[in-house]
Amino acid sequence: MSNWKDNLRNITPYVPGEQSKDTDIIKLNANENPYPPSPAAVMAIEEFNAASLRLYPPADATPLKAALAEYYGVQLENVFLGNGSDDVLALAFQAFFNSDKPIVYPDITYSFYPVWCDLLKIPYKTYPLTEDFRVNLEDYRAENGGVVLPNPNAPTSIGEGEDFIRKLMEYNQDSVVIIDEAYVDFGGFSSVALTKEYENLLVTGTFSKSRSLAGLRIGFAIGSKALISVLEAVKNSYNSYTVDALSIAAGIASVKDDAYFKATTARVMTTRNRMAKELRSLGFTVADSCTNFLFATHSDYSMKTLFQYLKTKKVFIRYFNLPRIDNHIRITVGTDREADIFLAEVRQFLKEKKQ
Ligand code: PMP
Repeated sequence: MSNWKDNLRNITPYVPGEQSKDTDIIKLNANENPYPPSPAAVMAIEEFNAASLRLYPPADATPLKAALAEYYGVQLENVFLGNGSDDVLALAFQAFFNSDKPIVYPDITYSFYPVWCDLLKIPYKTYPLTEDFRVNLEDYRAENGGVVLPNPNAPTSIGEGEDFIRKLMEYNQDSVVIIDEAYVDFGGFSSVALTKEYENLLVTGTFSKSRSLAGLRIGFAIGSKALISVLEAVKNSYNSYTVDALSIAAGIASVKDDAYFKATTARVMTTRNRMAKELRSLGFTVADSCTNFLFATHSDYSMKTLFQYLKTKKVFIRYFNLPRIDNHIRITVGTDREADIFLAEVRQFLKEKKQ
């Protein structure tokens, strides 16, 4: 006898960084921006006409698309918008990864990729990063059903440059290549301009990190008309309105305030470099980051214990109990004050564990 329970989906979901109910914690565990959104975006929300919410937003979020098209120097038809870049990526997986051949990505990368592959029944294969957590480009020469790569990579924080991306595209002329640029605004190389040259290249981005708007959920993709039109068709086959009216208004204001964007990303990068320097002086090995987080380890101490210790001090960072990186920690760059508290607690930990 069959049971209705036999037909329920058995799936292991992605687990994001913990959102604590405590308001007095130092929250360095979800790669959020420590600074508020642009004052222009805040004003757009404060002045938003709530009565207008009775109407649906424009289905393809055109006004925000137009602001992004202008910002990136592309046409409207080259921009796609979604409810955070997770939404955009999940749709892109559905739209472009329909081959019988496995899609490929690194063994250490954004842990949502295998979850979407399982959900959407997409075969996949991973290639190990090198010892120093670099992507071995030659692996990506072999036939595949698609490529997805964050650049800079997460949680390693390491970015690759233009030559790397051009070679990757040269090796993968018969696949769609998705470059996930969630962290690119903190000093990485952006492949957006290359989408004009490579019709099979899709670049995704987000307002959650560099634009301090994680709570609104705005993600986007830039690519050829051939790719974007298929993404639109797939989106319109499950939900016409993925970007709400409030997000459109605040998103436009954020894009137009480039001075604030440049100032806050620069501030994060300055604090990041100081944190990296201080951690290295304490004996940590810290990857060269072009993101808003650091990826670090220490050969004399357990990083899992450090993670747990910091939690008792109300400093939340991220620890992944995963092969190859189970003695690493990922620390989101906070304000200078948050960085100082984090570093003081780390020093205390090193002192206590030595005794
Ligand atoms: N890509 C990477 C590599 C990420 O770390 C994240 C954040 N968890 C995302 C995409 C998605 O971010 P969002 O949905 O907030 O745009």
